Amino acid sequence: MIPTRSYAASQAHAPLAPYAFERRDPRADDVVIDILYCGVCHSDLHQIRDEWGRGEFPMVPGHEIIGRVRATGSGVTKFREGDLVGVGCMVDSCRTCSSCNEGLEQFCEKGFVGTYGAKDRHDGSVTQGGYSNNIVVSQEFVLSISDKLDAAAAAPLLCAGITTYSPLRHWKVGKGSKVGVIGLGGLGHMALKFAHAFGAHVVQFTTSESKRADAMRLGANEVVLSNDAEAMKAHAGTFDFILDTVSAPHDLNVYLGMLKREGAMVLVGLPDTPPTVSGAPLIFGRRSLAGSLIGGIAETQEMLDFCAEHGIVCDIEKIAIADINEAYERMLRSDVKYRFVIDMATLEG
Ligand code: NAP
Ligand code: ZN
Ligand code: ZN
Repeated sequence: MIPTRSYAASQAHAPLAPYAFERRDPRADDVVIDILYCGVCHSDLHQIRDEWGRGEFPMVPGHEIIGRVRATGSGVTKFREGDLVGVGCMVDSCRTCSSCNEGLEQFCEKGFVGTYGAKDRHDGSVTQGGYSNNIVVSQEFVLSISDKLDAAAAAPLLCAGITTYSPLRHWKVGKGSKVGVIGLGGLGHMALKFAHAFGAHVVQFTTSESKRADAMRLGANEVVLSNDAEAMKAHAGTFDFILDTVSAPHDLNVYLGMLKREGAMVLVGLPDTPPTVSGAPLIFGRRSLAGSLIGGIAETQEMLDFCAEHGIVCDIEKIAIADINEAYERMLRSDVKYRFVIDMATLEG
């Protein structure tokens, strides 16, 4: 077994604290990764507070992982010792259902195996995530990271990046599209960068006046404060596509009315209470409300390669792992510019 140091929540709502455990020795197709950086996703916070009601504790969160390959199992062909690699929200899936066969492992009909808080398919142990100094993952769920990318700033691409890239691609956002992004946090700022890179006209909706200048710098053509009713009204019926990245309950109906006929609003934010949706704006205009979950492994690699080619990374604030609980408090106050990334060198042995 491989000794591992980490930070874990011992139970729901407990602050994260140092936690030692062991990872499995590599199976034939496993890659052992020494973790350099791990991004801090709002989903980590939802889960250590058990807001989605399926937490397994103790829980080591973290699914925006970048590291270097330390060792490989006997059957590994895709990676070598020293390679810069990433791991996102999934470490396994059934690999045989129609979703898996189509490269949509996130919709695996047996349920994908999450990077933390999920049951390993082989030995039933509970997976533990990336707020730790190493991880052992099947090569099929390991992503290749270009050395052109800054490793720390690339870490959040593994969740915030793919979660925003995938719906923008699926709904074919590009030149001529008018796109709205709701919420300028970890996901929101990547949605903004990608929509801008794809050539869309992008309007950023925010509750934070202090983020206006950053939104423009990150690629917005316009910024709208969502509590400014007049500014909101000016966009009625004009959007092809709106991506909602907000982590807390809020009114969706005001945004549905901003879509054009047949426009789509897609939820990626998952607050702990369900929204109230009015049928009227959907019916009068044949508009859609949909959702999207991360992205498959092949598309995640495509997104990482796109980022390497176009020089896209996340705007991050590096933190020491001992500061994680304070970082969560700041995240709850929307005080993140725009993703915390834990420097794993600060995890003391
Ligand atoms: P985050 O960095 O905390 O950003 C959320 C942003 O939402 C905040 O920065 C804030 O932006 C806005 N916001 C917060 N409270 C609000 C409120 N009461 N009303 C309106 N806006 C509010 O979070 P994140 O890591 O980007 O994650 C966002 C959500 O996506 C979370 O629910 C997370 O679990 C979910 N998620 C989903 C997937 C998926 O596959 N679907 C993947 C990853 C994460 P402003 O300051 O600009 O208003
Ligand atoms: Zn995430
Ligand atoms: Zn499957």
